[in-house]
Amino acid sequence: MEAVRIRRELLEYLLELARDFYPNEFAGFLRERDGVFEEVLIAPNPHFGSSSAFFDTWMLPYDESIKGTVHSHPGPSPWPSQADLNFFSKFGGVHMIIAYPFTEDSVRAYRSDGSRLGIEVVE
Ligand SMILES: [Zn+2]
Repeated sequence: MEAVRIRRELLEYLLELARDFYPNEFAGFLRERDGVFEEVLIAPNPHFGSSSAFFDTWMLPYDESIKGTVHSHPGPSPWPSQADLNFFSKFGGVHMIIAYPFTEDSVRAYRSDGSRLGIEVVE
């Protein structure tokens, strides 16, 4: 399976954010360098708690190093909701979802068409 590459420090930070925000969702944009996701930009004033549709209300920052998004699901489903899929299709790129209980096993990555990607953790 084709895989997304993510720096271990970033993956651990994302898991920590998901736990900190629980029972609400967090969401952010992922910044890539040399083919590896290395940094997250957390959305200012997102509309937490209801649904992932809040992505729609964001101003997408103009930044060519932003190649994906990440958000958490306070429930155990790691699958994209319909709202997620609508957003993914508009944004392009790669999209990560971190589901409850926010461990490495509960992280999934998707293409903008909703198909699965593997995740390769880079030390
Ligand atoms: Zn979602």
